[in-house]
Amino acid sequence: MSIQPIRYFGDPVLTTPASEVVDFDKELRRLVEDLTETMIDAPGAGLAAPQIGVPLRVFVWDVDEQLGHLVNPSLDLSEEMQEGEEGCLSFPELRYDTPRAMRAVAKGFNMYGEPVVVEGTAFLARALQHETDHLNGVLFIDRLPSDLRKQAMKDIRSADWFLEAQSLGTSPEIRISPHQTFGKGI
Ligand code: ZN
Repeated sequence: MSIQPIRYFGDPVLTTPASEVVDFDKELRRLVEDLTETMIDAPGAGLAAPQIGVPLRVFVWDVDEQLGHLVNPSLDLSEEMQEGEEGCLSFPELRYDTPRAMRAVAKGFNMYGEPVVVEGTAFLARALQHETDHLNGVLFIDRLPSDLRKQAMKDIRSADWFLEAQSLGTSPEIRISPHQTFGKGI
């Protein structure tokens, strides 16, 4: 088990759709352990594999003192929406009111390949949507109304972590995500 460096916005791995997991092997179990350990260390409420540079459909969460993980998830969302602040470990210190569905049912597999269904409301539902978005290369700023998104891009351009990544050459340029996915479906 080891804590992995978290990729920041600007790293292309964050805007690239991740691949389905095919082998439910020891490597996958190590990935789930690394994700869990990195999330707890951050600390964060959720972490998706692309955020540590692994382009696979796996994420973990730590919500209401419950740890969980999901592999190859698909989501069913309620019509009812919720408002609330949301942040992302790949955008340190930035938080914005982000609309999400109030309830989410996530179907997928655990690290042993057994089918799992996770039902969440409120913050767990938010986390399931946020992390599933990561697996599709969609970021929470893509879910913001356009005026707030413009403000977010401005904030990012002046954020210490972004300027530092740019000076190290790890963040080549700001690219607007191609996914204009306002609304709730993904
Ligand atoms: Zn995130």
